[in-house]
Amino acid sequence: SAYLDYNATAPIRPEALAAVVDALQVVGNASSVHHPGRDAAYRVEVARRHLADLLNCSPGEIIFTSGATEANNLALRAAHRRGARIVTGSAEHPAVLETSRDLAQNEPGSLTVLPMRADGLVETVALEEELGRGDVGLVSLMAANNETGVLTDLTPVVKAAHAAGALVHTDATQMIGRLTLDLSEVDVDLLSLSAHKFGGPQGVGALFVRRGTPLPFRPLITGGGQEKGWRAGTLNVPGIAGAGAAAAAVSRDLADDVARVTQLRDQLEHMVTTAVDGCRINGQQAPRLPGVASITFAGAPADAVMAAMPRIAASDGSACASGAPTPSHVLLAMGLSREEAECTVRFSLGYATTADEIAVAAEAVVRAVHQVRAAMAATAG
Ligand code: PMP
Repeated sequence: SAYLDYNATAPIRPEALAAVVDALQVVGNASSVHHPGRDAAYRVEVARRHLADLLNCSPGEIIFTSGATEANNLALRAAHRRGARIVTGSAEHPAVLETSRDLAQNEPGSLTVLPMRADGLVETVALEEELGRGDVGLVSLMAANNETGVLTDLTPVVKAAHAAGALVHTDATQMIGRLTLDLSEVDVDLLSLSAHKFGGPQGVGALFVRRGTPLPFRPLITGGGQEKGWRAGTLNVPGIAGAGAAAAAVSRDLADDVARVTQLRDQLEHMVTTAVDGCRINGQQAPRLPGVASITFAGAPADAVMAAMPRIAASDGSACASGAPTPSHVLLAMGLSREEAECTVRFSLGYATTADEIAVAAEAVVRAVHQVRAAMAATAG
């Protein structure tokens, strides 16, 4: 069997599992001043340091959340000013798109969703035009797309946005842990991440807020004022400790993993596309994450292909919109037809993927696509 669904969630790293179990045994509440409380707070601060080291930012710039969905909500809702426009992209995750739509609901014209090019990149000319209108308060563009792996070149986006007086948020959920993102070089104001995409536990993430960022901020969750008032509630100490341990493991292993995972992904794409006619790799013309292969198999519906290879864990559409019958909005935004989008399987590899898994998967995929096409031809005839 092969697990090729890292973009949905990655297997937990042994270091992270150990840190979770260890922190579960701490008695204190991280907000208490006695020794057991300080012990819990210590785990949190160690984790914050590991995450800050991975991102090359300062620990004080990190707010722990329940995941990237919450971090995206917090970022957009904190940065949105009445009367200022939000500019985002049509291939964003629903946690950004739906939140932006919600914020703009009562203010007609206050949201612009930029079109995507066929290669999966945002049309930069369109972004510059929007910024030129002078009323943009926030630009939110993802660092890496969850379905295609296509990377946004954030540096020119930040430059243009800042020149126009707008803040920049990036949903870096799929980038962190897969490629280096150095916050001393990439000058975004806000960044969201999620631990379970890089081997930490599910249900924990973080929002980076650059020091000095002027935000008309209101917390989503009010109460005891934890996380400097950004996010009230007793901290998820085991989850946070696991996230920190996973971040430390990423810092140690990333350079090797990038090279290895890129090679495995390229191998998978090569084996599949040489053995199967009529397939196309989405996002291949643009810079991409190392571990993502989004492949459209003409005439072979992805749900049938998946059913024909039960031991291969991949994704038809996106697990983020679990079970949703609608075709991927990302692929449609890139100009694929509805049918093409429905015939697309996403394979996503990561730190623990092996060459054996790739060999097993390639063989299974080729067999499954041929089987589905033969069945379709039989029913058509
Ligand atoms: N943004 C992107 C790009 C994602 O891929 C995901 C996970 N599907 C999320 C946000 C949501 O993250 P979480 O699961 O931590 O809420």
